[in-house]
Amino acid sequence: MPEIVGELDSKSYDLCVEKSEKRVALAGASAGLVQARRVALLLGFCADTVYRPDMDRILISACLVGRPVRYNGTDKTTDAADIIARWGCEGRLVPLCPEIAVGFPTPRPPAEICGMDGGGADVLAGTAQVVEDIGRDVSALYIRAAHDTVAFAKRYECRHAVLTDGSPSCGSTFIYDGTFSGVTRPGMGATTAALRQANVHVWPETQIAALDALLRR
Ligand code: SF4
Repeated sequence: MPEIVGELDSKSYDLCVEKSEKRVALAGASAGLVQARRVALLLGFCADTVYRPDMDRILISACLVGRPVRYNGTDKTTDAADIIARWGCEGRLVPLCPEIAVGFPTPRPPAEICGMDGGGADVLAGTAQVVEDIGRDVSALYIRAAHDTVAFAKRYECRHAVLTDGSPSCGSTFIYDGTFSGVTRPGMGATTAALRQANVHVWPETQIAALDALLRR
């Protein structure tokens, strides 16, 4: 973790935004990349300048802060990039990719939770499997990723997590149905199930504004 000094105020936040936007412009990023880059650059700029011990920390999927760690080598854009950027400047964010943390490469084969109605809790219980589209059973690694993420969240005292929906690790309202045909079903991934069992509140990226409102009450 970077050394943490100083405290955020509105002036330093404005400076974060101004500097990051200049960096985006200098990098010549395309319009489609600006949103994720802006978040990533803000985090990079703010991470070593902000300390707010009174802030709730938020575990966040690394792909939501501009890191290209998804199975296909991309990051994940969101409409709530400004809120994520502000959270970064407030010193709230603890980014992690559970799959990369246990050694999966990027890119990697897509994986889905297989079995009728099986979800993340079933994977943890051994009654459903996570299988790659090439047929490899990777359940053991997903279970390890889930438990390691719980330990990580506890270490950084994260009471909330914002995770990318749909993923067999990070999904929280839906996952794919195990047929690799693009069909979804209600459910959660293995990491989300483990976090919820440990009383961490897991939110999908579509509910970032709701979490922000809760934290700012
Ligand atoms: S495991 Fe989670 S953090 Fe990692 S790429 Fe997939 S959705 Fe993003």
